[in-house]
Amino acid sequence: MSLLDQPRGGAPTWSSWDDLERDALGCTKCPLASGRTQVVFGVGSRDADLVFVGEGPGAEEDRQGVPFVGRAGQLLTRLIEGIGLTRDDVYICNVVKCRPPGNRDPQPDEIASCRPYLEAQLDLLAPAVLVTLGNFATKLLLDTKTGITKLRGQEFPYRDGTAVLVPTLHPAAVLRNGGTALAQSRADFVVAKRALARGARE
Ligand code: URA
Repeated sequence: MSLLDQPRGGAPTWSSWDDLERDALGCTKCPLASGRTQVVFGVGSRDADLVFVGEGPGAEEDRQGVPFVGRAGQLLTRLIEGIGLTRDDVYICNVVKCRPPGNRDPQPDEIASCRPYLEAQLDLLAPAVLVTLGNFATKLLLDTKTGITKLRGQEFPYRDGTAVLVPTLHPAAVLRNGGTALAQSRADFVVAKRALARGARE
């Protein structure tokens, strides 16, 4: 069985963060490797019960090697602080770890190459609550064609019921749309916080 055939939520493909991060940082499995400044692996607490998953690094993230540090990232930080947590309390990563050129959507081959890293991160974290940021991460992780506006703010059992997944709007979309979108994001973060307080595994 190849790495890409590993079952989701099965035995961790990598048993240690060090091995996983070393392999991800040196990855050349897809064409995004040639355009990146650096791999944006993920940041935050490796003991976190709450994990945020975005789409892929933008220009600023590619420069700094840290997810969600541009304008959308600053909003994400404020939303996290709005539920009484800090970026250090949670874990933040993306579906793809290298910047797609021109911020286009990641392509199927790029997602397939990168997915084992995301699944291994989730295996090692074993979070209680996973928040998907935006349409792209939500559709991919829930394996659905339903859009974010229908799914946001709801709880979906995830990873064999060991976690719940709460979709929310992408912070970049919230920056574009403001007003109602910001209020919806705040409400979704409260849903995630309540799930976290329950332990979310029921
Ligand atoms: N958008 C994302 O989806 N991820 C980032 O890290 C930054 C912007």
